[in-house]
Amino acid sequence: MTIRMPVPVVKHDMLIGGRWTQAESGDIFESFDPYTGEPWAEVPRAGTADVDAAVEAASDAFRGEWRRMTATARGHLLRRFADRLAAAAETLAVLETRDNGKLINEMRMQLNYMPQWFHYFGGLADKIEGRVIPIDKPGVFNFTREEPLGVVVAITPWNSPLMLAAWKLAPALAAGNTIVWKPSEFSSVSALAFGKLFEEAGFPPGVVNIVTGFGHEIGDRLVRHPKVAKIAFTGGDATGQRVYQAAASELKKVTLELGGKSANIVFADARMESAIPGLVSGIFAASGQTCIAGSRALVQRSVLDEVVEKLVAFAKTARIGDPLDPETQVGPITTLPQRQKVLDYIDIAKGEGAECLLGGKVPEDPALAPGWFVEPTIFGGVASSMRIAQEEVFGPVLSVIPFEDEDEAVAIANDSIYGLASGLWTQDLGRALRMPDRLQTGSVWVNMYRATSYLSPFGGYKRSGIGRENGMSAIREYLQEKSVWIDTMNSVPSPFVQR
Ligand code: NDP
Repeated sequence: MTIRMPVPVVKHDMLIGGRWTQAESGDIFESFDPYTGEPWAEVPRAGTADVDAAVEAASDAFRGEWRRMTATARGHLLRRFADRLAAAAETLAVLETRDNGKLINEMRMQLNYMPQWFHYFGGLADKIEGRVIPIDKPGVFNFTREEPLGVVVAITPWNSPLMLAAWKLAPALAAGNTIVWKPSEFSSVSALAFGKLFEEAGFPPGVVNIVTGFGHEIGDRLVRHPKVAKIAFTGGDATGQRVYQAAASELKKVTLELGGKSANIVFADARMESAIPGLVSGIFAASGQTCIAGSRALVQRSVLDEVVEKLVAFAKTARIGDPLDPETQVGPITTLPQRQKVLDYIDIAKGEGAECLLGGKVPEDPALAPGWFVEPTIFGGVASSMRIAQEEVFGPVLSVIPFEDEDEAVAIANDSIYGLASGLWTQDLGRALRMPDRLQTGSVWVNMYRATSYLSPFGGYKRSGIGRENGMSAIREYLQEKSVWIDTMNSVPSPFVQR
C-alpha cells in the first residue's frame, strides 16, 4: 500500500561556511519527483562565486579549529554524527525516494546501514599512525607522519546520493580533511538534510560545505580551484574522464568511481533457486541504475533455455509502481533524459538483432503514465560485440549471452572496457576459488550479488575507476605521508655532499 502524501514545493538553502544560504545570484532550479513527473523542491543554483566561497570556507576551516582538534575529538564527532544519522534514517530515506525514485525499501536499507561508515571511520581517526624507520644513517632519527590533504571536493551522482557521499565524507573527515560536496542536480534535497546533521553533531563551521548546482556550470571550477587538494568523484566514465583531465592540469589527486558493464555468470552446476533471483537483483533492483548492475547475464549453453525461461517468468512478476510503496519492486528511472537513453538503447539492441524476451517499452498501465518508467527488459541472442553488451545503459535492461565453458565465460566477462564487478553462480568449490583470479573486476561475488560494506574495499579495474573506497584502503586515499629527519648527534658533515 502506498504511503504517498501530497507535499508543497519547498525551497532549500545550501551550506557554505556554516551559513544556510541561497546562491549569490539568487538563481534556483527545480528538483523533480520521478514518480509524479512533478517538481517537488527548489534548490539553489550555485555559480562560481558560491564555489569560491565554499572552498575558502573549507580552506579556512582546515587551517582553524578543525586542524587543532585532536584525532580522538574528530572521531567522537563522526560517531556523534552517526547517531544523528541513525535517528534521521527514515526521514532521509523518504527524501531520497521522492528525489530519485529509488525504492523506499532500498533507501531504508542504505540509510539504516550508513551510520556504520561514520562509526568505523570515526573509530579509525585516532588510529592513523606514522612509523619509525630504522634508518641506515648513523645519528639520524627518521619517522613518518600521516597528514590530511586539505580541502576535498566530493562529487556524487543521483543513484545512491547519500551512500556514495558517506563513502567519501567519512574517511575524508576522519583523516582530518575538510569538504566541499556537490551532489547531483537530480538529488540535492537529501544531501542538504544530511548537511544539517553535521551542524547538529557539532562540526565546526566550514568543515562540511554543500554547493548545489549543475556540474556543467560549476564542476570545472570545483575541480580546478587552487585551494582544492583532491577530488573524490562518483559518476559516469565520460564525466569522470573530464574531471580527471581537469584535475591533471592542476596536478590534483583523484579518486574516481565510474561505471560498469558487469557480468553475472551462471554455470550449469549453479543452484538455480539462488541464481535466478541473483540475476534479477543484479539488474532490476534500483531499475538497473547502479554502477554494479549485472547487466550481462552470461549463461552456460547447456542450461540456457532453462535459465532464460525461469528468468523471464521471475522478472515478469516484478511489481512496478510507486517507489514509496514498500510493496513495489521496480520504480521509475530517476531522470527524463536517462529514461530516453534507456529507451534508445532498447532500440539499438533491437536494431543489432537482439531478441526482446521481456519488456522493451514504457509500461502501459495509465496509473504509471506520469512517472518515468521502463519495463524490466531482457534481451536474448546477444553477442559480446554488440553495443548492448558493451555500453553502460544504466537502466533495467539485461543482455543474456551464452558461453560453452569456463574459458569462454572468462573471455566474454573480461571483454569490456569496464571492470567494476562480477558475479558467479556455481556449486563447484574449485571454480569459486579459481574464477576470482581470472576476472578483471574490483569486486567478485560468488553465489551472491550486490553486497558492499564499510569494511571491504570497493573500486574499479580498467575504465571503472581509480582508487578504492571503504575499508582500511579508503582512509589512505585521504592522507599524505611525510618523512621527518632529525640529526641526533649535532654533527656537521660536509655541506657539499649529500647525506
Ligand atoms: P554523471 O557522471 O553525469 O554525474 C556525476 C556527478 O558529476 C554529478 O554530480 C554531476 O553534476 C557532476 N558533473 C557533471 N559534469 C561535471 C563536470 N564537468 N565537472 C565536475 N562534475 C560534473 O553521472 P550521473 O549523475 O548521471 O550518474 C550516473 C552515472 O554514474 C552512471 O554512468 C554510473 O555508472 C555512474 N556511477 C558509478 C558508480 C560507481 O561507484 N562506480 C556509482 C554510481 C553511479 P550534475 O548532476 O549537475 O550533472
